[in-house]
Amino acid sequence: MTAGSLEPRDMEWLDKGVLGIQWNDGHHSVYPVRYLRLHCPCAACVDEWTGERRLKGEDVPLLIMVQDIQPVGRYALQFRWSDGHDTGIYAYSLLRKLCQCDVCQPVKPVESKSRRLM
Ligand SMILES: [Zn+2]
Ligand SMILES: [Zn+2]
Repeated sequence: MTAGSLEPRDMEWLDKGVLGIQWNDGHHSVYPVRYLRLHCPCAACVDEWTGERRLKGEDVPLLIMVQDIQPVGRYALQFRWSDGHDTGIYAYSLLRKLCQCDVCQPVKPVESKSRRLM
């Protein structure tokens, strides 16, 4: 299987706000849509030069919804979001990296980010 031939075969709503994509290599991906919105790759959400993410968690409504999904050529999907954002083009290779299924994102041990001083 070469990287260029990866394509979604089927899409379905697994749950409210959880998109499932079945790929042509048999992988079944799971995407909470807010997670996808937060990882929007467009120039407004990510700095083109530094790759730094401009979009912050608080910028995206908790109850974000997908209003429309359009295929772009044979390499990407474009999402139209309920907050009016529609400039993000998610290449299939990016979507595979964002996959949140148990295989791609094994449950990580909870790590404490800050150490209390007292
Ligand atoms: Zn964006
Ligand atoms: Zn996966």
